[in-house]
Amino acid sequence: MLTREKSPRLTAAIKYFLIILVLTCLLNVLPSCAASERVEVSLDTTEAEKVLTILAKTRQSQPVAEEDWQALFATEPYRRLRAREAAMHRDFSDDDFRKFVLSAELLSQYEDLSRTLTAWKKADLRAAGVRVLQYLPAEAVIHVKVFPEIKPKHNSFVFDVATDPAIFLYLDPKVSQQEFDNTVSHEMHHIGLSSTDKLYEKKIAALPDGPQKAARWMGAFGEGMAVLAAAGGPDVPPNRFSRPDVRENWERGMRTFNQDLETLNEFFLEVTDGRLKGDAVNAKASTFFGEGPWYTVGYRMAVLIEKRYGRAALIECMLDQRLLLQRYNQAAEQRNALGPEKLALWSPVLLKAVEAKERQK
Ligand SMILES: [Zn+2]
Repeated sequence: MLTREKSPRLTAAIKYFLIILVLTCLLNVLPSCAASERVEVSLDTTEAEKVLTILAKTRQSQPVAEEDWQALFATEPYRRLRAREAAMHRDFSDDDFRKFVLSAELLSQYEDLSRTLTAWKKADLRAAGVRVLQYLPAEAVIHVKVFPEIKPKHNSFVFDVATDPAIFLYLDPKVSQQEFDNTVSHEMHHIGLSSTDKLYEKKIAALPDGPQKAARWMGAFGEGMAVLAAAGGPDVPPNRFSRPDVRENWERGMRTFNQDLETLNEFFLEVTDGRLKGDAVNAKASTFFGEGPWYTVGYRMAVLIEKRYGRAALIECMLDQRLLLQRYNQAAEQRNALGPEKLALWSPVLLKAVEAKERQK
């Protein structure tokens, strides 16, 4: 009797256990499956390696064969770099690149460059991409190639965002593996966010020309959101791996937040009412890059919104950047009412001008 009674109970218990086990597995597995589809990051170091091969031969006074050069020129990072420089109307030829590689200056950096490449290769970029996803709308995907390159210009940039996104990073011996990881995370946030650009464009499509341009430039606050996403949270110091000069510049930006916000407010108003037009808009907007107000003001607004309303509310702002300014104003007004610190606010005239048509009805 006992065994008969026990047996069905046991079966039921096992069934429940199995159901719970399956559900637990699904809950654990599904997000990581989703993340694995949304994040595709490949690190391609072939250009840097081929350059180092040539440098190693030169150091040992061995002849550099034509095949060594052709192997370098055939790498995807090199071909894409040449295409990008051509797109920017910059002089860039295989012959000039040969001269650069054979220069005494580059040769003297051989050991530093080799050490840096070895360190950068240890970065877990997939993990960085998955970390950045927590600061992106569900629609966003990060499909990107990362090219650390030995090249004449010491700049880093993103290219071909719409068709075949690639992050080009100058292989800088002054940049640690952590800073490299942080920079790639920052750029991956841009790639992920720009995968949702079309959705925002639709939202602002019905706006008149000036307000539409202003609303589009509000998207540049993506810089500040990328800083926050790369840090991984509002309480993580965003420049903890940066060099001292970069950190100082950032802290200065934090101190001048109110006046920077006023400057941007004036810029948006000028664009909205047409006082600033055409190329003058881009020229002025570009002065706010370079770790300037697009980064610092964007970051502080994002942090305030996340702390006050939660991350989901911040992510909504990424799909409609006008909301970032609105929600910031709400949170800042509440804070101004409570304490001695007074945060600058966006002008209501500006917020009204860029409002979506349907909201104005
Ligand atoms: Zn950026």
